[in-house]
Amino acid sequence: MGPYIRCMPVSIPFDNSFARLPDAFYSRLNPEPVRAPSLIAYNKELGDLLGIAPASDSERAAVFSGLKVPEGASPLAQLYAGHQFGNYNPQLGDGRAILLGEVVGTDGKRYDIQLKGSGRTPYSRMGDGRAWLGPVLREYVVSEAMHALGIPTTRALAATLTGEDVIREGILPGAVLTRIASSHLRVGTFQIFAQRGQKDAQRQLTDYAIERHYPEADGPLGLLREVCNAQAELIAAWMSIGFIHGVMNTDNSAISGETIDYGPCAFMDEYHPDTVFSSIDQMGRYAFSNQPRIAVWNMAQLATALLQQLDDPEAAVTPATEIVHAMPERIETAWTRRMGAKIGIAEAGPDDRPLIESLLKVMQEGRADFTNTFDALARGQARDQFLNRDAFEHWAEDWYRRTETEDNPQATMQQASPRVIPRNHRIEEMISAAVQGDYAPFHRLTAALAEPYTTEDTALMHPPTETERVPATFCGT
Ligand code: AMP
Ligand code: MG
Repeated sequence: MGPYIRCMPVSIPFDNSFARLPDAFYSRLNPEPVRAPSLIAYNKELGDLLGIAPASDSERAAVFSGLKVPEGASPLAQLYAGHQFGNYNPQLGDGRAILLGEVVGTDGKRYDIQLKGSGRTPYSRMGDGRAWLGPVLREYVVSEAMHALGIPTTRALAATLTGEDVIREGILPGAVLTRIASSHLRVGTFQIFAQRGQKDAQRQLTDYAIERHYPEADGPLGLLREVCNAQAELIAAWMSIGFIHGVMNTDNSAISGETIDYGPCAFMDEYHPDTVFSSIDQMGRYAFSNQPRIAVWNMAQLATALLQQLDDPEAAVTPATEIVHAMPERIETAWTRRMGAKIGIAEAGPDDRPLIESLLKVMQEGRADFTNTFDALARGQARDQFLNRDAFEHWAEDWYRRTETEDNPQATMQQASPRVIPRNHRIEEMISAAVQGDYAPFHRLTAALAEPYTTEDTALMHPPTETERVPATFCGT
């Protein structure tokens, strides 16, 4: 790096559209300054996509920790509400995040640049507005892994240390994540203005969301249809890789259809449909196999909110209900296609569902590892994954018969099944090392997970041993 880059400020080609909306939608304020920022990671490939010019690590640390507000930013905290575990909370909002602004990337798409962990806002309630290193690195690693897996998601541009302590269960290092999203509009963003009866705000927000995400959509019902479709595809994608979001509250459900808010999320090791990791999900509301139902429930809340802006909401109840009720079949169709590919069927349809479902049953009974079973199927060594090998072999007879007519089942399977996913015990190990100042496991994980289908770091494939197993994950606060 030449002396020329060393003194270059971080230059971001901002083009802020949300900040041009009326101030009913947000509070303008700067991030709270931090004492001694330092850069942990900068995602150069993503920075280049966003048109961010080269800069020194110290300049990046200053900007992406919130110490220095870059030229062209319009910092603000967004307002939203949301159903948390089924109960409506009339006001949430960015309590520890600041939207710096937006850029249009070299791909022509618009992106939000948000700092998470950037200090108190008018929506912080009892919180300190901060984040500690653990959840920042967890979100960095998992969101980038999801991107590499081809699943719609927010992304991670940077992680910085603030040089300040955060008090949680103990004293922990404070950190900030720079999150990139195609927007931060949530179901809860619509709910708050509907609940308050602010029709003008609802209509402005609907127009804004349509223009930004679904320019072809016609009015509130058109928007609802698009969001339902995007969420249906998203949930099917999660189900096909064993991902458990953990907090599918309506404030964590994105209008764009991206995965957002990686709190107590986790990937399953052994397959079991009832798997729950989140320590706060005592009832299993957001258990693995409940995710499709919850996504539909969330879309029903969006429908309710969207209808409030109409002059005659009653007249739209029937079409809105039809849109929401079409979701389960849509999820099932997308799920069948994805799961079918994982067993070598290029275009699986309803007739293939029994074969997929019977494999899952054998996996559950045989305590098979979700990711490794499909990887082994793709490589012809699946038998070893099962405790109940006879049951697997019985299933495999039907499977051979079905895939005989497929062109290249092996290639289909290998493209649909990652070798490496961010296993929970590896994430925990990475966080423990980082707290001690050792970032080698973080860099190892990000490197391997950037190519999850082809990585040669196959040691990361191992499921946890009994002592490595992580029974619960905690919210990202
Ligand atoms: P989450 O569970 O991360 O989706 O957050 C739910 C709500 O709590 C959001 O309004 C957050 O902004 C807020 N929140 C979470 N952690 C903090 C914190 N440390 N300080 C202030 N607000 C927070
Ligand atoms: Mg949230």
